[in-house]
Amino acid sequence: MLHAMQGNWLAGRHALITGGGTGIGAAAAAQLHGAGSKISLSGRRLEPLQKTAEPIGGTVVQCDVTEPEQVARAFDEARTANGPVDLLIVNAGIAESAPFHKMTRDGWNRIIATNLTAAFDCTQAAIGDLLKSDSGRLVFVASVASLRGVPYAAHYAASKHGLLGLMRSLAAEYAKTNLTVNAVCPGYVDTPMTDQSVARVSEITGRSEEQARGAITNMNASGRLVHPDAIATMILTLCLPQSRDVNGAAVTIDGGTAA
Ligand code: NDP
Repeated sequence: MLHAMQGNWLAGRHALITGGGTGIGAAAAAQLHGAGSKISLSGRRLEPLQKTAEPIGGTVVQCDVTEPEQVARAFDEARTANGPVDLLIVNAGIAESAPFHKMTRDGWNRIIATNLTAAFDCTQAAIGDLLKSDSGRLVFVASVASLRGVPYAAHYAASKHGLLGLMRSLAAEYAKTNLTVNAVCPGYVDTPMTDQSVARVSEITGRSEEQARGAITNMNASGRLVHPDAIATMILTLCLPQSRDVNGAAVTIDGGTAA
């Protein structure tokens, strides 16, 4: 059904997805592939990358996005395999939680490096290609934590707020080009990241995993976790040639939480 709706709009285009082996990144890879694009997937762990890439003929370019030399090398490998990058999905991210007074500078640095500074480095590594493309697309996977404060996750919320600042600035700077720059802002999504949050809450509070999952799920206004395909469909939509006038948007996909 979805594939029939998608057509082949992205045929010949090269989509590079950071954090593409799991969760939202893997769902985006499947949908962008379904719309005809060539896929490169980056991440640190080879196994999930290969598992996601294999059925869609994707290219795996292993790298840690917090290491700029690794990013440059991985993006070059992706280019060698699939040509210049037309669609960049900046999705790799990590989440941690701690009361602010117990938050460490190391923890702060880790989150900012992965969720924000790496977005800068990945965008820099692809910006030349994106601006040369006749339909360049840059999509940041931000969060509802980009839009409001989050208790016990000040570093995560700060990193995701920063991502929106980067997105909006680039959207304004490149508004007269063929590149659009947008963000998706998910609520809690059913992915390994949320599984880790459940385990963390369970460990800290002594609640069962089921209770912890219920508490997290109820933080979405809908009372259910968002399916990764819902985020992927929005990413795909933003990547379509028809979306060229959607620029500088932060699209919430959160079951109504931010309403
Ligand atoms: P996952 O944990 O499944 O995906 C995160 C991906 O990022 C993994 O594939 C991971 O691969 C990769 N990654 C993490 N750190 C690095 C690094 N240093 N270098 C390269 N790759 C890295 O969770 P999600 O799919 O949920 O997360 C995707 C994005 O969505 C994140 O930016 C997250 O903040 C955002 N988001 C998620 C929400 C949720 O509820 N799940 C809600 C709102 C936003 P590897 O470990 O192999 O490197």
